[in-house]
Formats: sequence, C-alpha cells, structure tokens
Amino acid sequence: FAKIDVMGKDLVAGFITDDYKASVKEVLDKALQGEESANYEFPLYTKTGDRVDVLLNSTSRRDAYGQIIGVVGVGQDITEAKKSQAQVVQASKLATLGEMATSVAHELNQPLNVIRMAAGNSRRRIKSQKSNKDTEYILEKLVRIEGQTSRAAAIIDHMRMFGRKAEEKSEMVDPREVVSNALDLLGAQLKLAGIQVVTNFPEKCSKVMGHTIQMEQVILNLLANARDAMKDNISGSRITLSITEKDEIITISSQDTGGGIPEHILSRIFEPFFTTKEMGKGTGLGLSVSYGIILEMGGAIIAENITDGAKFSITLPTTNNIIQKIDLMGI
Ligand code: ADP
Repeated sequence: FAKIDVMGKDLVAGFITDDYKASVKEVLDKALQGEESANYEFPLYTKTGDRVDVLLNSTSRRDAYGQIIGVVGVGQDITEAKKSQAQVVQASKLATLGEMATSVAHELNQPLNVIRMAAGNSRRRIKSQKSNKDTEYILEKLVRIEGQTSRAAAIIDHMRMFGRKAEEKSEMVDPREVVSNALDLLGAQLKLAGIQVVTNFPEKCSKVMGHTIQMEQVILNLLANARDAMKDNISGSRITLSITEKDEIITISSQDTGGGIPEHILSRIFEPFFTTKEMGKGTGLGLSVSYGIILEMGGAIIAENITDGAKFSITLPTTNNIIQKIDLMGI
C-alpha cells in the first residue's frame, strides 16, 4: 500500500485478517499501557492479495515527561525465511518417511515370502488330488493369495530402492546417456500410446556424480507418470525432455501435456504411498524414490504446472562444480 492508502486508517480494522485482529490489538494495547510484548508473528496481505509474513515488535512511545503518547511498531518481512524453513521441514519429513519405508520393506519381505510359498505349496498339493467344488474354490483363492503377495513383493522391491543408495559407489554419469537409456526402455510403449517425444539435448554436456541405474529409474518414473497423465488425451500428447547446463548446474526437465497436477495435491506428490491412481495401478512410490535418489546426488527435484501439463525439473551439480568445491576446501 502507498502511504496515502494507510495514513490515518485503523491498522487492526483495515489491514489485519479477522483471525489475527484480536491478538494484534492486544499486542498494541499492551504497548499503549507500557507493557513490552515479545516478538509477534502474523500475516499481512498486500494490495494485490499476496501474503507477507510479518514479525512485529512494538514499544510504547513517550513524551518528554515520560507519558505514553503512542506505540511504535516495527514489522519485519519474514516471508522468505518462513518459506525456506517450511522447505527444510518438508525435506526432513520426506527423508524420515524414506528411512521408515526401507525398514518396513525389509521387515515385510520375510513373512511375505513365507505366505507366498505356503500358498504355492498348498495349491500344488490340492491340485494333485481329485477335484471337486471345494478344491476348485480353494485353488482359486490360493492363486489369488499368490497374485496379491507378488504385487506386495513388487511394492517392497520398489521401496528398497531407498536403502540401496548408500551401498553402490557413485560414478561420473553423462545425463544425456541416462535420459536416452530410459527412452530406449520406454520409447516403444510411449509411441504405442500415441505420445510424441521431443528431446532437446545440448551437444556438449558436463557429467554429474551418481548411479546410472538409479538415475534411469528416476527418468522412467517421470516418463511413466507423464504417460499415465495423458491417457485420455490421445491427440496432441507430447513429452518434452530437455537438458540444459548453466553455472555448473545441469537441469533435466520433463514436461507433458497431461493437464497438470491439481494444486491441492502438489505439495504431497513426493510423499511415499501418495497416489491418485486407481487401486492396483499406482504404488505412490515413484516420485518419493526419485526424490531420495536425486537428494542423495546433491540435487533437487521439483514439480510445477505449466500451460497444459506438468513439468518436473531435476537440478544436479556438475562434476566440475564438485571438483571446484573440493579445491576450495583445500583437499
Ligand atoms: P504413482 O505413479 O504410483 O501414483 P508417484 O509417486 O510416481 O506414484 O506419483 C504420485 C502422484 O503424483 C500420481 O498418482 C499423480 O497424481 C501425480 N503425478 C505425478 N506425475 C504427474 C504428471 N506428470 N501429471 C499429473 N500428475 C502427476
């Protein structure tokens, strides 16, 4: 707001949102009575409706005789600080969930194998006996148990990607190679689904530190998600894969024309087990595994919505960057 918009107006009545009116008034009233209050946080909204988080500190203003004649409030804009704090919390939450997923996967594997083997053995034993209505029924159920345990085992396998990270040694990887490999694996399937794939790769490209297989897994996850998002949108379906390099940072991005990610779930898609796909289709682990892999490589992965779809961007430091850093550390 310009000075002219606010001079002479009541701060609390005109500029503070309803749920903070009472508490901000209390802070100011206390200052009017000569009482100091601790720093106080509340949101203000700009003329255009953007939220600004403010840290308010108010003290009494006195005249030459020590009489209180007003309040001086100093508000500090802490929007950025709050945002990065929220990001740190989110990152550590995801890391904890990742660790949990690894140990759950490990613990579940054993009983699952036992169930599957027991079901298989029972099926074979029953099959060798004379068939009647009951044996048919039991056989059918046993096949079902085996099928479902296989599915659970597949989920567990996926979850174990979390734990595998630390075990392998990192190597220098050409990002173009990783993306091409992933395309080799899924390209035919995308073509069949009527999806056009456009690639923008630079002629020269620095390397990054990581594991080829895991990075491929990340790109495969992004491609599979893009494919799934464009299921009902056959004509004009397109995935654009780009690699760019700037200031010793490689950015690999995948954008699709699948309509994007609904705003209300955007902050949740990297959580383990979060899926909007129907039962049996999604495990909700693709993006959380990808997140872990990229984080381990010292990079970041973000999702955003663009005009007609979603865009995922992976940023990774180039090996030149890493070597420079080590040099600076004097090693
Ligand atoms: P899954 O694919 O098994 O559901 P993911 O972790 O890979 O698990 O993805 C989580 C969710 O994120 C998906 O269920 C979907 O709702 C959303 N999502 C991911 N990629 C896209 C995309 N390209 N377009 C729209 N939504 C997406």
